[in-house]
Amino acid sequence: MIDRVQASLFLDEPVANVPQVSPVRAKALASMGIFTVRDLLEHYPRRYIDLSSVVTVEGSRIGQSCTICGTVHEMKLKKPRYNLQLVEMAITDASGLIMVTFFRQPWLMKTFKAGDRVAVAGKVEFSYGFKRMTNPFIEKVGDGAVVRGKIIPVHPASGKISAAFMLRFVQEALGLARGCEDPLPLELRLRYRLPSRGSALASVHDPRTLDEAKAARRRLAFEEVFLLELFLMLRRRQEVADLEAVRHCVDGPRVAALREALPFSLTDEQQQALGDIFEEMAAPRVANHLLLGDVGTGKTVLAAFALAAAADSGGQGMFMAPTEVLASQHFDSIGPLLEKAGVPCGLLTARTPSEERRALLEGFASGAVSVLIGTHALLEPDVVCPNLTLAVIDEQQRFGVGQRQRLLQKGPAPDALYLTATPIPRTLALTFFGDMTLSYLHSRPRGLAPRATTVLQRSDRGKAYDAALERVRAGEQVFIVCPLIGCSAEERDGRSAAGDDEAQHPAIAIEDEGDYEADNLAAAETEAQFLQTHVFADYKVELLHGRMKGDEKAKVMERFRSGQSQVLVSTTIIEVGVDVPMATVMIVEDADRFGLSQLHQLRGRVGRGGLPSSVFLVSASKKPEAMSRLKAMEATDDGFQLADFDLSLRREGDILGNRQSGASALKLVNVTRDKGMIEAAHKDARTDPDLSLPEHRFLAREVEMFGRREKRAEEDKDAHHSRRS
Ligand code: ADP
Ligand code: MG
Repeated sequence: MIDRVQASLFLDEPVANVPQVSPVRAKALASMGIFTVRDLLEHYPRRYIDLSSVVTVEGSRIGQSCTICGTVHEMKLKKPRYNLQLVEMAITDASGLIMVTFFRQPWLMKTFKAGDRVAVAGKVEFSYGFKRMTNPFIEKVGDGAVVRGKIIPVHPASGKISAAFMLRFVQEALGLARGCEDPLPLELRLRYRLPSRGSALASVHDPRTLDEAKAARRRLAFEEVFLLELFLMLRRRQEVADLEAVRHCVDGPRVAALREALPFSLTDEQQQALGDIFEEMAAPRVANHLLLGDVGTGKTVLAAFALAAAADSGGQGMFMAPTEVLASQHFDSIGPLLEKAGVPCGLLTARTPSEERRALLEGFASGAVSVLIGTHALLEPDVVCPNLTLAVIDEQQRFGVGQRQRLLQKGPAPDALYLTATPIPRTLALTFFGDMTLSYLHSRPRGLAPRATTVLQRSDRGKAYDAALERVRAGEQVFIVCPLIGCSAEERDGRSAAGDDEAQHPAIAIEDEGDYEADNLAAAETEAQFLQTHVFADYKVELLHGRMKGDEKAKVMERFRSGQSQVLVSTTIIEVGVDVPMATVMIVEDADRFGLSQLHQLRGRVGRGGLPSSVFLVSASKKPEAMSRLKAMEATDDGFQLADFDLSLRREGDILGNRQSGASALKLVNVTRDKGMIEAAHKDARTDPDLSLPEHRFLAREVEMFGRREKRAEEDKDAHHSRRS
């Protein structure tokens, strides 16, 4: 028993307490982010070398990864450059000779000597007349036989600590952590046939077979998500512990009147999502609900119902959108419906004239106005709402945590409803938003007019212009998006494929002006001029960019929306959900520079008025991967499917932003591959969310440790962030 406790506590001791880890090595480990024994044990092998594929020098094939056993015939330390040392070894077996080169590992001169029996594992190359291996895994072997197991783990190493040393430290640590407590309840381990933590750690680092390693990874990955989920739920519970939740009345007269006032009926999917939202609002807990759906799937309408329920319950609601255009669009679309249903509404933005603002704030403070729709302007300290019971936040990822908090703190314990058009796949959302309830809207309510997407090589972009011009002649409108990367249109035309090396997938949120904005601006201006004179000479082309002032932007947008201009060229696209019913064509230049999800959001801006629409993705990239990635946009119109695909190409952090809580805790889980596991862990974490059962005592401690490490990771990130800015 004592041993078990000791082994468990050992996990959280400093890594310097591991035998063989000297202070100097501890420092080197710290620079790799390894501070505790637990960090060390979660430093999992990058891959495994299967020593069972042992061949002779003669039998090895060029390009093959294999293991060769032989004798060190000769070794030399060479210094081809002042800062480069390499060790060259000639290794022979009965069939021939292979040359082996190790870069930057001069210590090998001390570890090995001529005559040693060794096994080297790596890829066979051929040059200067010899078979060769570069930086292979090397190990001494006993007389003829491979001493250790048949599988060799390769741990991520650093310049100061080699993979072999890593393995040595890990083995020492494993010895002392043997028999450690298992945080996973036995019931779950039995149900999913998971090995114990101790044995999983041992097998992941030093497996006897690849199957054993696989089973160990599965167990440890499950533990990762499970702990993350529990941690998020615990944190959430602590946040709202002292708050007295509002139980909303969700079948009151205003909700009913709103249903009457709608010119359409909700789709089944909307009905279901609204049911989820109402369930959370009516429950005696502070709601934290995320509604996910593409642009145009009908989220805003559901928000209106939630706001009506707040009014029915004698409360008030606030609805915050990230831009002025979006806020007024919401106000225009749901304001009249809410008024009709007996829910008085107001719009508050930075542009609201001060007289009107004063009257509005008075009305809101007195309760005469039930719902305030607006921008960040809602966060001003003089916006008071004694009876706030519901806060709706549109495009939540575009607000900082602090801003969301400020809105929620306007009331004693308001329910929170978040809307997002970012197509976050369900497993990703389950993993990282474990403290939220989720609803999805997958399809658009209206029988949508078709939208065709075509990928074009840059040299074919004339086709896009022809199509656009034809639509403009028919009275429709065109968006042209230029993410330009700091070169003029002419230069881009002559650009070689080499330029593609800087190709990046920018993060999904398209809000900020990048470093290139100045250059982009110049290029977009040139582009707009070119289009005005050469393509759309009889029509009005306007330019919208991130450097413009808020009201200037609004004016350009308004002229486009009202049809006074026909073509809108923009650099940074700011208004994610802008409704321009007559916009039916979108041309995206340098489309390969966007992530798929982002392109999907962009194309969501055309075809919103019931007319068929076309999207052209233009790319100068000569890379086949870039083109095939874009081709996925032709193949599907489902944002979630694209997000999944995108996710398989990028890291989770790129989608949610690397400051996402928990991102650093997931070392083994892959949200695309491990879907079933994530669903299961999500469900299982909810069976005893308070961890009050006696068999979950140890689990509770682990969740706490998880929280501490999460905090440390966040502090590191903050420190890193403030160093950079
Ligand atoms: P989102 O906020 O998800 O972008 P909206 O709520 O703005 O979507 O809805 C997009 C458009 O579809 C709006 O014009 C809205 O009035 C309309 N709409 C929403 N729900 C339905 C429905 N069930 N039937 C028909 N039209 C709908
Ligand atoms: Mg919307």
